Amino acid sequence: MKYACAGIAASLFIATPQTYAQDSCTDDAAQYTVRYVEEGVFEITARFRQSSGVFEVFDVENANRDGSSSDFITNVMHVKPGGTEPVAYLGEGTWRLDAHTPSAPATIRYTLEARHETYAWRNGKEEIAYRFDDAYYFVGARIFLLDLDLIGCAPEISFVLPANWEAAAPWPSTSPSSFRPANGELMMSNGFAIGPTLQTLDATFGDSGKVKFVYEKSLAPVARQAAADMDRIVKRYTKIFNGSANGDFMIFMTTDQGNDGGAFRNSFAQRFKAPVRDSDGIIWRTTFAHETLHLWMGHTIRPSDGDIEWFKEGFTDYITSKTMFAEGVYSTADYSKKIENIIGRYMIGLAFGGPKSLVEASNNKSANRLTVYGGGALMALLLDAEMTTDIGDGAFERMLADVFAGSAEPYPQARLMAALDRNSNGRASAILAEIDAGLDPFALADRLDPHGLELSVFTPEEMYVTFTGTGCKARKQPCPPAFLRLP
Ligand SMILES: [Zn+2]
Repeated sequence: MKYACAGIAASLFIATPQTYAQDSCTDDAAQYTVRYVEEGVFEITARFRQSSGVFEVFDVENANRDGSSSDFITNVMHVKPGGTEPVAYLGEGTWRLDAHTPSAPATIRYTLEARHETYAWRNGKEEIAYRFDDAYYFVGARIFLLDLDLIGCAPEISFVLPANWEAAAPWPSTSPSSFRPANGELMMSNGFAIGPTLQTLDATFGDSGKVKFVYEKSLAPVARQAAADMDRIVKRYTKIFNGSANGDFMIFMTTDQGNDGGAFRNSFAQRFKAPVRDSDGIIWRTTFAHETLHLWMGHTIRPSDGDIEWFKEGFTDYITSKTMFAEGVYSTADYSKKIENIIGRYMIGLAFGGPKSLVEASNNKSANRLTVYGGGALMALLLDAEMTTDIGDGAFERMLADVFAGSAEPYPQARLMAALDRNSNGRASAILAEIDAGLDPFALADRLDPHGLELSVFTPEEMYVTFTGTGCKARKQPCPPAFLRLP
């Protein structure tokens, strides 16, 4: 089975929870045993009570397109009472038993070679597998041969490891070395780590969950900062949306040549360009807060299609910025620069290839990144400014809480706009129409003046924002207007 996964910056928590028929599931429907053999080599035995005879991993091509994640699964054998025989490989991560009676039990055994880093991966090693310190990280989808007929059953995953080793996985555990994900999708769409003395850190997710960080030793200060940030930003988000998001999560952190990450059902993996300097904090802490916010914006408030990516990404960017300033991660100077970036992104998108409606841009997000992120965030900023003036402080956040309250159903564009308009006396649709048609930077400057933001602009990409708000405690500093300050 071919499988494409996007990096953290492009998309997060993309998988939608599904319900599976559980009729034929028993406790022993699917049992996996992962045994350490020697450095870089594991043996996996999978027993299926009633098997289709076809087994699949979610195969990913490497960056050079001359290999795939399945290359590290070798020696796949059918274990029968009289001995073993090889299982036929059909390509693209699919194996099939010869002459298998459907629904008969089956046991297979195969070798997992932990050499995935000999390849480069387009969306990063965290989507596949990697080694860190003395430990190993794997994504279930790359290593567990799944019988799709049993995807609704809760598989048992047991580890047989050297004496001082441990396993860290985002699944319910039945013993320190055994886990039982609720179904096959949760087995596949998650990362886990095994090794001697894993570095872990437990943190709270506001009042609604627990988060465990599993990190490379050299990232200890980063993990500690992220854990402290998480608790504080989750409290902010819970207040803004007047509700919590499910936060039982495992977070894997490793060093690499660049910054990015990947998100799974109950886990996400972030990687950091080493060394992580103090000055990098503004970027990675913002990214971390942005991804955490997607638990509300994207995971709980779910898009029904590609149309509202401008809202999911742009509003997330804007709300994250407000939160970073409120928490003191951004100085006033950082904050004005961030607002310049938001406006600049939109203006550059407009000058090169625009105007384009946010919905149209959303349906090809990677090609229209500047419009989706910049236009969406500018829409949030203008709406917040004008709602605060028209309706009063907190009107923008009350609107977000209303959207969140309606999140039992996914949001198509029309229902989202109806909710935004209901809370803004129709301003949302009016601003969206202007952004879609192309907002001239000088007209935008006039528009922002009365709201405590002075925009000085030269060319589309060169601009300076000066805060002229009032009521800041710290005198002699430019004061962001009230709408940019969370209570
Ligand atoms: Zn995002």
